[in-house]
Amino acid sequence: MPHEQHQGGGGWSTTAGRHGSPCAADGCGQPTLRCVGSTSSSARRAALAAVEREVVDCRACPRLVEWRELVAREKRAAFRDEEYWGRPVPGFGDPDARVVVIGLAPAAHGANRTGRMFTGDRSGDWLYRAMWRTGFANQPTSEHRDDGLRLTDAWITAPVRCAPPQNKPTPEERDTCRPYIERELEILDRARTYVVLGAFGYGVACGLLGVRPRPRFAHGLEVPLGDGRTLLGSYHVSQQNTFTGKLTEQMLDDVFVRARALADLGPPGTVGT
Ligand code: SF4
Repeated sequence: MPHEQHQGGGGWSTTAGRHGSPCAADGCGQPTLRCVGSTSSSARRAALAAVEREVVDCRACPRLVEWRELVAREKRAAFRDEEYWGRPVPGFGDPDARVVVIGLAPAAHGANRTGRMFTGDRSGDWLYRAMWRTGFANQPTSEHRDDGLRLTDAWITAPVRCAPPQNKPTPEERDTCRPYIERELEILDRARTYVVLGAFGYGVACGLLGVRPRPRFAHGLEVPLGDGRTLLGSYHVSQQNTFTGKLTEQMLDDVFVRARALADLGPPGTVGT
């Protein structure tokens, strides 16, 4: 496994997607898109690991494959001595998560360099500091994928797994990548709160979670899903938002505190190492 912490197991069913493979949960072996086995922590972990294996080998979007690999070869001067990941980035976190964070896509010199969601750039610094302050992360920093960061009760994913030019995937790329996040959300069946960072992820999440009509995206927006689950909107942690003050640390903390409450997780505490 390329990551220290990730995934989990059964209890899902879908007809969408073309990235199926045999379920890796113990004793299952059904095509993952049809598996409806009993859900346990180990089964979730195995199923998420199966998704991860497919994600990291995916080459379905020619433009994005070319871009992620070009960036990895050319590198930014500050990282010229590093070996870039240069591949699709899998989800990261606690397979038993009650809160799922949905971003946009890997940053060229962040996750595309380090191989872990929101790791190695200022957006990640913001996100993980907030998740540490609100009890989801065991440390406030996220520098590389072997830095010991662990999440409790939270999983981080994105609708698009390859770094796109200008951070703008095309609609076709979004739709091609959609089965991966779709399967993750089905596997993460303990989730009660979906924290969506920005309008792009919000649009995809609304489609996957059956939100119709779709309320206009806003920071702090809460969309009840009718079964005790809630979709919660936040401005993205992009530098464009954090540098300009559109998103402050207090605003982001408030989102995660609210996410805890909606997921019945109790007040923030420090996650043990
Ligand atoms: S964006 Fe998604 S579907 Fe496209 S190549 Fe990357 S992992 Fe594959």
